[in-house]
Amino acid sequence: MTTAMKGELVVQRLESLFGHVRFNDDFWRERKEPFWLIVDTILSQNTSNANSGAALRNVLIKYNTIEDAFLANVQDIAHEIRQSGLYEAKARSISAVANEIMENYGGDTWSFIGGSYPSARERLRSILGIGPKTADVVLLFARDFDIIPVDTHVFRVSRRIGLAPQKGGYEAVKAALEDEIPVGKRKFAHVALIKFGREICNARQPQHWKCPLTDLCEYCQETSCVAIEPR
Ligand code: SF4
Repeated sequence: MTTAMKGELVVQRLESLFGHVRFNDDFWRERKEPFWLIVDTILSQNTSNANSGAALRNVLIKYNTIEDAFLANVQDIAHEIRQSGLYEAKARSISAVANEIMENYGGDTWSFIGGSYPSARERLRSILGIGPKTADVVLLFARDFDIIPVDTHVFRVSRRIGLAPQKGGYEAVKAALEDEIPVGKRKFAHVALIKFGREICNARQPQHWKCPLTDLCEYCQETSCVAIEPR
């Protein structure tokens, strides 16, 4: 079986398992302002959804517009987002994005993230604290580029299944997945692989007995994983 065939099968089975997955991005669409998506993605670095969600709620209560965030001092932002961890560094990033958009793009976030995928990605990455994953998540959800951002769950699951190289960093795994996952299915694959990694193929105790991918999974074949629920 080619890896492209395997990628297609993985998507089909995750669709059967989860059906329609929710993208959970109403908060910034309601404000028609992708700045808040950038903020949310910065807040979600290296923490749980619960912690970043709590920090985002504080930010959305305190600041209504990019200008509010631009005018705020970094310590005040840090105070609002302290539940998210690494809050001083994240506050500096949020402040830096707000400054960039206000000073160089006239307050227009769509211009800041506009243009081709490589140019928009480079612009985002020029901001302190925005790495490839954060830039890609923003561009997947705000611009609908057909890409697969790779977070810790996507890394682990795609390596276990054998869709991604065992060695190689972010760019290598992303490129492999984008070769294998069908066009138009990459946003679904990103969200579904994260959900699958949290709920079934978790880091410490993958629940092989709940998994619809055992016959496709290299890790399972190599370790003769037991697809029976322990008693
Ligand atoms: S068989 Fe086990 S290791 Fe493989 S994808 Fe499923 S849960 Fe993960």
